Amino acid sequence: MTQEELASETPARRKRRAARVVKLLAKTYPDAECALHHDNAFQLLVATILSAQCTDQRVNMVTPALFDRYPNPDDLASAQPAELEKLIQSCGFFRSKAKNLLGMASGLVEHHAGEVPQSLEALVQLPGVGRKTANVVLGTAFDLTTGVVVDTHVGRISRRLGFTTSKNAEIIERELMALLPKKEWILFSHRMIWHGRGPCQARKPRCLECPLLKLCPRVDLPPLSP
Ligand code: SF4
Repeated sequence: MTQEELASETPARRKRRAARVVKLLAKTYPDAECALHHDNAFQLLVATILSAQCTDQRVNMVTPALFDRYPNPDDLASAQPAELEKLIQSCGFFRSKAKNLLGMASGLVEHHAGEVPQSLEALVQLPGVGRKTANVVLGTAFDLTTGVVVDTHVGRISRRLGFTTSKNAEIIERELMALLPKKEWILFSHRMIWHGRGPCQARKPRCLECPLLKLCPRVDLPPLSP
């Protein structure tokens, strides 16, 4: 698809193109799932808070010892900040993340009987939890579709595909929610994240080996060399 074709694309045509992208991603990444290791909703919430500005691999290296030391919200809520900071230090921004983890765990204990709430409104009241984290937890741990998870990969690929021009995660999420069938929201995000770690990397995307090439206007990328 060319950028000229994108410029004249009607909303109905864009929806049809998005549906084809969804199908191809599903075919390409049939096993895509959340890359953060976890056994329950609490662990996923902790891991997702830690994953801000940090790779999932790094988080997965840190969480086994962390979950061992603080297996539930009660234990985490009464953690010593210095000990918690030491355990999560390699994830970056460890002081603010430790503060958020303590506040989040206290919030679960005080307001939700030590359970992770199953609503977006309640989750985003917890320290360190924004829409993205809430969508990850609700979609992955509870199979509740409340939105589209927009991380750096989803944002970048959506712009290249011409599905959005925005760099604001909430605006991108709204546009993707309007474009995609609700039942696809959760897996679409996981698959886009896998695609972003695969051919559609931030630097030097490998468009010639990308299954979406025919459907992609490659916005803001240089022409392909023959
Ligand atoms: S790798 Fe290239 S063709 Fe594939 S989605 Fe990314 S920009 Fe489009």
